[in-house]
Amino acid sequence: MNQDYLRNVNKPFEENIVRDLQKQAKAGKIPIISEEGIHFLIQMIQIHKAKKVLEIGTAIGYSSILMALFTNVKVTSIERNETLYKQAMTNVKTAKVEDLVELVLADANDVVINDLDYDIVFIDAAKSSYIRFFEKFSKNLKKGGIIISDNLLFRGMVAHPEKIESKNRRQLVKKINLYNEYIVNHPNFDSYIYAIGDGLSISIKK
Ligand code: SAH
Ligand code: MG
Repeated sequence: MNQDYLRNVNKPFEENIVRDLQKQAKAGKIPIISEEGIHFLIQMIQIHKAKKVLEIGTAIGYSSILMALFTNVKVTSIERNETLYKQAMTNVKTAKVEDLVELVLADANDVVINDLDYDIVFIDAAKSSYIRFFEKFSKNLKKGGIIISDNLLFRGMVAHPEKIESKNRRQLVKKINLYNEYIVNHPNFDSYIYAIGDGLSISIKK
């Protein structure tokens, strides 16, 4: 399979901190971004010469820390779960990126972010709120800035909702599909959805 081949030919992360964070995520069953996804984000930051990223959904800080570590970008990341926020704080210190990564303990629905000069907004929190997050945080984005959204294919379920047994799951997947249609039809953004990782999109602010 292509994926197995690519996993072999591409170089894995060798840094201990990356391995350690991946282990933490696995142990706590935390859904961190795929390796393919984080490489895509990192290279997007590099190509776009981004200076500031706003992330919605920190979890243990894996994606924040890797973006900062490999590109020197400044990251503001919002997390509503206090336990995860604290774990992320510890991880940021261990990774020595506390000058680059600012963690905010808040619900993204309530928080007010004042800066209007973010180059990238990375949406990776509660999937049912993605449209609200997109509308809210697009105001913090520069013209020409990019919104990147994760999990738009939700482990294949968005493409095949008929296979889902759970009603709640079906509702969630329906919302993701609505979000996908919303971004590709948005008049103020050029969007495209890619089968990278668990489904990532790029939306460029016109
Ligand atoms: N970006 C991380 C993974 C985030 S997982 C990484 O790839 O490493 C999604 C996180 O979003 C969870 O920790 C969850 O607690 C948080 N979250 C969900 N809804 C939220 C909201 N409304 N406000 C803030 N955080 C939220
Ligand atoms: Mg995700």
